[in-house]
Amino acid sequence: MNDIDEIIRSITLKNAIEHQGKARIDSVISKLIGIKPEIRNDIKNIIGNVKTIVNDVNNLTIEEQRRQFEKLNKLYEEKKEEKGYILPPLPNVKDSVITRFPPEPNGYPHIGHAKAAIINEEYAKMYKGKLILRFDDTNPLKERIEYYDAILSGLNWLEVKPDLIKNTSDDMKMLYDYAKILIKNDGAYVCKCKQEEIKENRRLGIACKCRGRDIDRTMIEWDKMFNEYKENQAILRFKGDLSSDNTTMRDPTLFRIIDAEHPKQGKRYRVWPTYDFAAPIEDSIDNVTHAMRSKEYELRNDLYYAILDRLGLRKPLVIEFSRLEFDGMPVSKRMLKPLIEAKKVQGWDDPRLPTLLALKRRGILPSSIREFVLSLGFTKADTKPPFTKLEAINRKILDPISIRLFFVKDPIKMKIDDMPSMISIRLKNHPDKDLGYREIKLDNELYISSDDLCNLKIGDEIRLLELFNVKIDSIDGIIHAKYTGNELKQIPRIQWVSKGVEINVLVAKQLYLDNKFNENSLEVIKGYAEEYVDRLENGSRVQFVRFGFCILDEARKFILTHK
Ligand SMILES: [Zn+2]
Repeated sequence: MNDIDEIIRSITLKNAIEHQGKARIDSVISKLIGIKPEIRNDIKNIIGNVKTIVNDVNNLTIEEQRRQFEKLNKLYEEKKEEKGYILPPLPNVKDSVITRFPPEPNGYPHIGHAKAAIINEEYAKMYKGKLILRFDDTNPLKERIEYYDAILSGLNWLEVKPDLIKNTSDDMKMLYDYAKILIKNDGAYVCKCKQEEIKENRRLGIACKCRGRDIDRTMIEWDKMFNEYKENQAILRFKGDLSSDNTTMRDPTLFRIIDAEHPKQGKRYRVWPTYDFAAPIEDSIDNVTHAMRSKEYELRNDLYYAILDRLGLRKPLVIEFSRLEFDGMPVSKRMLKPLIEAKKVQGWDDPRLPTLLALKRRGILPSSIREFVLSLGFTKADTKPPFTKLEAINRKILDPISIRLFFVKDPIKMKIDDMPSMISIRLKNHPDKDLGYREIKLDNELYISSDDLCNLKIGDEIRLLELFNVKIDSIDGIIHAKYTGNELKQIPRIQWVSKGVEINVLVAKQLYLDNKFNENSLEVIKGYAEEYVDRLENGSRVQFVRFGFCILDEARKFILTHK
């Protein structure tokens, strides 16, 4: 039985139980569309199955219906557990669904971008629709090729696969055409007032003299923006509503002059549209059905629709979702860039940052990010979950695939007397998964952590994990201990390393505490790890027993992914 049939059967059984053993085809179908909206267009092919299943179920006794329903339900719950979380259905779905992820290539992608990209992709998949990746690149002062590349590789890492990739800057001629249409519809005017004046007038809701010019004159002024006027000398403004309570409607800027080289277009253009103008038009002409954007744009929705109205263009449905960032780990460039410039963090991939580069380097898996984003659901309320929530998801995935190794922090030497002659021992790399074995060479010297030593005194007996028991004879710079056998007893169990290699482990702590940079946000822990670490390739993941999950960053340097 395939997935859909299983769901139909479950709905039918439930419907039958609720109606004296007789399910109804129409109720089953409407319920089915509620659960699986994507099959709406496929209903003709499915209706036959529904009829067969309803007939079949209606011939059963109610007891049998109950029994089968419970069995299926249990199966369904198990599957849900496996698949994780499901987003709520989209409103106003008609024939197809087209979503888009429209980043501006003006920085490195972070967890907030991941959320937007993943949600848009999940919805496109849910309705067998399309996802467009559109670089909203109409401010040459801010955009750089390295950021386009960083966004592409970030999405690639997240396994977000757009069906179409485009740049808004490739549509400049079309956007100019729409500007002219808007001017001709008396929907825009060229304003040559000073910036402060514009600002003050907007605040007070007052029109300037430019607003009253006739359309022909405005068209001449518009042309002058391309060759005559200098930067900040003239802008094209929307003829909105200067008395609107929504200040974004008070004649916002649609185009401005920027004489800078564009990373993709070079010096081809100097009159650049704002996001407010370009986004609705791009969404509309690309047939985007559901335009999702974060809640901070909510006030701009009136403007978005007003521009499309004046141009007579189709209106996508704008849906808001909450921004995502972690508590104490801001995503804004305003908060992060100064830290990088002042070398307080090592770069955009510093493990303390919320960029995708940093999360990857720290050892967070892309599948954990997806699960995490979906686990938060589709909410409008701003979310600042603690990073530990992502860690918990990541840990669950890493646990069965990470080899266990011993690591001792701040090592102290232990000499063992009367030790039986053994040259090496063989340890399992994972207690219950088949991740192989490793041989550890032994002599009568090994290392334990100073932290463990603190809890010990002369005369104590301890078990060296996976090895044997010893009794502490003396502590003077090094520990002298005596072999006491192999019997399992209720004694402290302590980790050790034989012939260890010195490694550093970087531990990322919360970047901002009480809105101030945390000067102690990066700790470097030194210790000895098993020689085995020298056989690992960069990027390998291990779990240092009783310490945490780590990823090898470079030779003998690990980053703590999380405990
Ligand atoms: Zn003006």
